[in-house]
Amino acid sequence: MTLDKYSQKRNFSSTAEPEAEIKKSQNELIFVVQKHAASHLHYDFRLELDGVLKSWAIPKGPSMNPEEKRLAIMVEDHPYNYKDFEGTIPEGNYGAGTVIVWDNGTYTPSEEKYKGSVENKLKEDLDEGHLSFILKGKKLKGEFSLVKFKGKQDNAWLLIKKDDPYATDDDILKKDKSVISNATLESLENKSAKS
Ligand code: MN
Repeated sequence: MTLDKYSQKRNFSSTAEPEAEIKKSQNELIFVVQKHAASHLHYDFRLELDGVLKSWAIPKGPSMNPEEKRLAIMVEDHPYNYKDFEGTIPEGNYGAGTVIVWDNGTYTPSEEKYKGSVENKLKEDLDEGHLSFILKGKKLKGEFSLVKFKGKQDNAWLLIKKDDPYATDDDILKKDKSVISNATLESLENKSAKS
């Protein structure tokens, strides 16, 4: 795991995003979903693994409906501390635009029995291009899978909700506030425009 790509894309004297640092949760693995109004609005889905946040950009955002498979483009690993990043990335920087922490919580692999450590199991599944896990978030709950497209598109995956008691066709994205500050993207944008 390396954060070189993350650092190469950013200039830390002009963005408030956290610097590259490998760091782990004390207990359960965490996940975070950030809503990011960059050149195109998207949601960044991040799973802690091995001291970094494995990251996917989801243009349409996650869905709680098992029939709505959402395209998820794997992007560079982000540092663990990115889980708390909320604010505006200034113009001229990579990913310029406003970010809120749309959801967060902990996650576990779906499979209960595996040899060795939880993280080794997840790493193997990631390498094989099929990861199933249970999210305990404030918005996203229950079992999901990330499945890699077979073929040319190296970074293209699908995020799929499993049919379980948490599955619903209610639009989860209507819950548009930050889980850490209650801000919406719009309220944060207005605030940074004034300052
Ligand atoms: Mn993003």
